[in-house]
Amino acid sequence: MKKPDDILPPTGSTKVLTGRGLESFSMDEGGHLNLILEAIGNAQEGYLIMQLEASSGPGKILHINQSFCRMTGYVLEELTGKDSSLLWQGPSLVSFLKALRAIIADNQPAIRQLVCHRKDGSSFWAELEVVPLDKADRGKKIWVGILHDISDRKQMEQTLVESQMRLNGLLNSLSDLVWSMDVDQEHFIYLNPAAQRIFGYPVEDFFHNPKLWRSIIQPEDRDAATAAFDQILTTGGFEIDYRIVRSDGEVRWLRNKAHVICDPDGKPLHVDGLANDITSHKSVEARMERMANFPQFNPNPIYELTAEGELTYFNEPAGVLAKALGAEKVEDILPSETNKIVIECLRTGQSKLRVELPYGDRTISWSFFPIPNTKIIHCYAGEITERIRLEAQLRQSEKLKSVGQLAGGVAHDFNNILTIIQGFTNLLLSRQDFDDDAIDQLKQVAAAANKAADLTKQLLMFSRRQVLQTKNFNLNLVVTDLAKMLERLLGEDIHLTVKSPDGDVPIEADQGMLEQVVVNLSSNARDAMPRGGVLNLIIRKVEISATTASQHPDARPGLFACLTAVDTGFGMDRQTISRVFEPFFTTKLPGKGTGLGLSTVYGIVKQHEGWVVVESELGKGTTFNIYLPLAKVAVSIPQGEAQEKKPLGGTETILVVEDEAPVRVLLRSILQSVGYKIIEAKHGLEALRMWDEHRNEIDMLLTDLVMPGTINGIDLADRLLSDEPELKVIYSSGYSADVVGEKMSFDAGTNFLPKPYTPAQLLRLVRSSLDAKS
Ligand code: ADP
Ligand code: MG
Repeated sequence: MKKPDDILPPTGSTKVLTGRGLESFSMDEGGHLNLILEAIGNAQEGYLIMQLEASSGPGKILHINQSFCRMTGYVLEELTGKDSSLLWQGPSLVSFLKALRAIIADNQPAIRQLVCHRKDGSSFWAELEVVPLDKADRGKKIWVGILHDISDRKQMEQTLVESQMRLNGLLNSLSDLVWSMDVDQEHFIYLNPAAQRIFGYPVEDFFHNPKLWRSIIQPEDRDAATAAFDQILTTGGFEIDYRIVRSDGEVRWLRNKAHVICDPDGKPLHVDGLANDITSHKSVEARMERMANFPQFNPNPIYELTAEGELTYFNEPAGVLAKALGAEKVEDILPSETNKIVIECLRTGQSKLRVELPYGDRTISWSFFPIPNTKIIHCYAGEITERIRLEAQLRQSEKLKSVGQLAGGVAHDFNNILTIIQGFTNLLLSRQDFDDDAIDQLKQVAAAANKAADLTKQLLMFSRRQVLQTKNFNLNLVVTDLAKMLERLLGEDIHLTVKSPDGDVPIEADQGMLEQVVVNLSSNARDAMPRGGVLNLIIRKVEISATTASQHPDARPGLFACLTAVDTGFGMDRQTISRVFEPFFTTKLPGKGTGLGLSTVYGIVKQHEGWVVVESELGKGTTFNIYLPLAKVAVSIPQGEAQEKKPLGGTETILVVEDEAPVRVLLRSILQSVGYKIIEAKHGLEALRMWDEHRNEIDMLLTDLVMPGTINGIDLADRLLSDEPELKVIYSSGYSADVVGEKMSFDAGTNFLPKPYTPAQLLRLVRSSLDAKS
C-alpha cells in the first residue's frame, strides 16, 4: 500500500452535524463543557478539541478523548496545550492548514482525509470531521475534530485501483477479443484493442457503427452466426465458430463465446463475450483430419503403442486381421515380446523391422517405429504367408534342379556303361558253346543290368535329360486306354474312375513319359490306400489366371491341359509334401519305395513345360494337379498299328559313329553278327573322311548324338544328308540335353535309339529304318 503521507482532496461528502448541540457550545458555559467532555470521553471515535489562531500556525490541542489517545498512542497530558503539528506533519501540512482555515471561515462542518502520525512515528489514514464552533475567542477559533481510522478502507480502495489497472493492462494486451454489448445488441459497452488486431478496423468504428459487427461475417456463415446472436436471450449464451472478412479482405476463423449477464432478479443487463482468432487452429484441425485419414484408410493393419506397450490405436484392417487369426481382441495377436521391443525402440530410437511370427499356417511380419520426441511407437503388420510359401517353393525347385543336374550327369555316364554290359551279356547269351549254368549266370547279369537301366532311366526323366519323342495326342484318350492296366495295378479294393468333362484334351508330348506319370501317380495312390478307396483321374482344360499363376513359380497364365489324380488315401503332412519330389525321398519301407516315382513325374512335367501342384492333409487324401501346355493343333492322325515281324539281319553297309570304344565294339559285334558291313568312326571328323571314301557304299548312318569335337551327331547327319538325301540315319544317345527342344524331332520307332538298348532293339530299328520308304 502506498504510504499515506499526504492529505487527499475533500471527498466531497460534507456532513452536517446536527442534533449534537455543539453549534451552541460556548467556552464560557463551563458546566456544558464538562458535560460535553464527559460525553466524548466515552465515544468510539477519536475526539479532539482544537483552537486555531486566526492568522497562522498549526493550532493548539485543547482536549482529546480516550479513543483519540488509543488511535495515536499519546496520553492526554502529552497533547493538551501542544501544537497540532505533532499529529499531522509532512510536506502538505501547509495545504491542510489552509483547507482547515477555509472550513472554519466557512463555519460549515466538513470532512477531510489525511495522514495522521502516531507517537511511535507510524502513520495511518484517517478521516477528520471538522466541526467549527462559532464562539471565537479573541480571533481564535475553536473547533472539534472527530477522527476515524480509515486505513482498512484506504487499503481496499488502493487494492481496487491496482486490480482495475491490472485488469485494464490485461484486457489491452490480450490477443483474444473481449466485448460487451447492451441487451438489444445495439451498441458496444466495451471492446478491447484486440478488436483492431483481429478485424483490421479501428475499435471506434464498432462503437460508431454497431452494424459493422454483423456485416463482416463471411456470407456463408452469416445466417448461422446471426441466429446465435439473435437467440441469445433465450439460449443464455453460445459458442460458435464462423468466418469474418477483415478490412484487408483476408478471411479469418473466429470462435465466439457469449453469455447474458443478469441482475440478481434475473433481468438481463448486458451480453458479454470472448472471441479468438482460430484460423491457424482451423487449418491445423483440417490438416489433422486429413492426416487421420492415413491410418484410417490404410489397407494395412496399423497400431499405436505407448511406452508401456499399451495399445492406444488400431485401424480397421488391424481388427480384421485379428478376427481372421481367430483372436478375440486386437492386442491378442501382437507379438508376445512387444513390451520388450517397445522399450528397446524407445531406448535406442531405432526401429525394429520384420519380426516374423507364425499364426497357425499363416505368417505375419511386424515392424515397430519409435516416433521422435514422443513415447509412442507405431507398429505395422503385414501378412507374408504367400511370400514365404513362394520362397519355399522356389528353394524347393532350385534344389530339385541341382539334384537333377547331378542325377542326370551320373545317369548319362552310367547308361554308356550299361549299354556295354547289356550288349556283351546279350552277345554271350546268344552263343551256343556255354553250358546251362553259365547261361543262367549270364541271365542274372542281364537281369541286374536291366534293373540298373530302369533306374537310370528314371533318374534321367527326373533330370529332364530324356530325349523327348513328342507327338500330338489326346491326353484323355491315352489315360482311358491305360485304365485297364491301372485297374490291375490298383487291385480290387480301389475303385478307379477316369473322367474328361471337357472332351478331347490334345497335348504335344512324349506319350510314353505321360503314361509313366499316370502310372507313378496311380501306384502312389494305391500305396496310400492299403485298405482300399477311390482314385479319380480327371482330364480337363483349365484357364489359369494371373493371380493363380503368381502362386506357383513354374505356373503362367493361359489355357492348359490339367490331369488331376485325387485319392482317398491317408494323405501327407506338410513336411512330407515339401519333399515328395526329391529323388530317393520315400516314407515307405526299404524295398517298397524307391523315392523316384514323383521325382520322375516332376522331371517329365517340367520337361514338358508344365508344373505340378500337390494338395494333401493327413487323413484327408491327396490331390495331384498336373498342368501341361495344350497342343496348338488338334490331333488328326490315328495311332499306328502293331508292327509286323521283320527279318533282323541284312547286307547293307552302315557307318557307325561312336566315341566310346566299347560301345563301338559292341555295335560292330551285333551288326556284323547278322550280316551287315560296318565302317567305324570315332568322331564326326573321322566320319566325314569315311564318307568321302565310301559314300557310294554307305546305306545308313548310325551316330551318337553327343560327341567330342565340333561336329555332333546332328551336324554330321545334316552334312551327309545334304550330299545324299536318301541316306538312312539313326541317332543314339544316353541323353541329349543340348539338342532337346531344338527343331529335330526324334522318334524311337524310326530314327532314335535310346541308350541303353538291347541287341534286339538295335537290330529291329536298323532293319525297319533301312526298309522304310524314303
Ligand atoms: P515312393 O513311392 O517310392 O516312396 P515317390 O517319389 O513316388 O516315392 O513318393 C514319395 C513319397 O511321397 C512317398 O513315399 C509318400 O510318402 C508320398 N506320397 C506320394 N504320393 C502319395 C499319395 N498319393 N498319398 C500319400 N503319400 C504320397
Ligand atoms: Mg512312388
